[in-house]
Amino acid sequence: WSNKDFPWTKQLEVNNKKVFGNHSFRPNQREVINATMSGCDVFVLMPTGGGKSLTYQLPALICPGITLVISPLVSLIQDQIMHLLQANIPAAYLSANMEWAEQQEILRELNSENCNYKLLYVTPEKIAKSDALLRNLENLHVRGLLARIVIDEAHCVSQWGHDFRPDYQGLGILKQKFPNTPVLALTATATASVKEDVVQALGLELGHNAAFYHGSMDPAQRAFVQKQWSKDEINIICATVAFGMGINKPDVRFIIHHSLPKSIEGYHQECGRAGRDGLLSSCILYYSYSDYIRVKHMISQGAIEQTSMTYGYNRSNMTNSGRILETNIENLLRMVSYCENDVDCRRLLQLAHFGEKFDSSTCQKTCDNCSKITSFIEKDVTEIAKQLVELVKLAGQKVSSSHILEVYRGSLSQMIKKHRHDTLRLHGAGKHLAKGEASRVLHHLVVEDFLVEEVKKSDVYGSVSSILKVNNPKVHNLLLGGQRIILRFPSSIKASKPGKFDF
Ligand code: ADP
Ligand code: ZN
Repeated sequence: WSNKDFPWTKQLEVNNKKVFGNHSFRPNQREVINATMSGCDVFVLMPTGGGKSLTYQLPALICPGITLVISPLVSLIQDQIMHLLQANIPAAYLSANMEWAEQQEILRELNSENCNYKLLYVTPEKIAKSDALLRNLENLHVRGLLARIVIDEAHCVSQWGHDFRPDYQGLGILKQKFPNTPVLALTATATASVKEDVVQALGLELGHNAAFYHGSMDPAQRAFVQKQWSKDEINIICATVAFGMGINKPDVRFIIHHSLPKSIEGYHQECGRAGRDGLLSSCILYYSYSDYIRVKHMISQGAIEQTSMTYGYNRSNMTNSGRILETNIENLLRMVSYCENDVDCRRLLQLAHFGEKFDSSTCQKTCDNCSKITSFIEKDVTEIAKQLVELVKLAGQKVSSSHILEVYRGSLSQMIKKHRHDTLRLHGAGKHLAKGEASRVLHHLVVEDFLVEEVKKSDVYGSVSSILKVNNPKVHNLLLGGQRIILRFPSSIKASKPGKFDF
């Protein structure tokens, strides 16, 4: 944080002197105040006596609305309120051991048109147990009067801390209910893991307002998230495909696929949600071949569940479920093929899938392939393909694709020695090939159905692995030499510019 002038700098200086009687700021006080007043969530680790109170009391004084302070001990709260009232700053507190009538009086004042409190202190069990208080806070929020939430002695949130309090754990609800209200978490004692824990439990995520969305959430919760998203109160959403069927937000700037989409159709539609306002937007897909194995397993499971639910298991319907599964896996393979392709224009590839033509020169280097590749060569990889197929056979059709690639490259790993695969005729036959070339060919053989990944659920934790098998009828022609396989490889690649995406 630079201490360049913020709009409130003058006001801070004046009130620090006039109201609090301080001649200057102590180390880090100004930085914390500027961060919280900029709307960020802030975690403050400052020694006892360092002056943490000022970092929220001064903003509370000069910001419109009310600052909610959660503090564990009534005696501490009373001491703070006394000081605030002496400085003519209106403040109140609520705790479980107060008279009922007195609590009602304070809630009534909170609800009133011209409530004059600048700070409201509460104990954490009040948040956990009082629906009336939460309703009042919601009411304040709706009226735009919930300025800031302060969590004092924040280490009490963490089970790793020395002073864990169960009621503190429930405070995460505040960020869920008020995602755009800045939270200030204060403590004098926190190890790195306690800090992580606190940040996690309170839902503070780097000053961005983020939420999640998936099909198993209840409808009210889903509707709430959608509404916040459309009103710009949330600007990042982590979601499954359940999100977005009816979403038509014009200014989506980034769509990031963290795992492999199940089909090009699905991917095309999901990406289509970016940039409806016509402005530049980015779609990023993280891909690794191993995702294919995982998603294939999910699809197999899903198809079985679906059909058993809909039709039950009888012979004719098993055929039906088999057909659905086949189509789904075929769709997935097309997606894998799209990802494996590191030569052709992405836009051309997507549109070609739908039978449309696209002149890739009009891409203007907006896709990864067009921006990095200046030229490519076509290479006959038939011999490599034949060797790989033979190697799968020699290894007894019992090992994974990555194992086959290692044997082909001549690795002498323990696993390879254990299987005695270092003695196979084709061990090391692909040693001379450029990095990534053999895997491109092997993945191509899978995409084109010469080889088949047979997915296995490997252990009690449900992790997925697969073994590679040969599709004999298809491979026959290839091995007899009646078929050539030509692949394109980039012949010169420009280093892609780092920092291209400015988050
Ligand atoms: P903490 O909560 O970090 O333990 P406090 O907020 O109670 O610390 O502050 C400790 C003492 O330091 C208080 O007496 C407070 O008035 C004083 N103090 C805080 N900030 C300043 C400042 N900028 N200049 C002078 N005194 C300060
Ligand atoms: Zn392109």
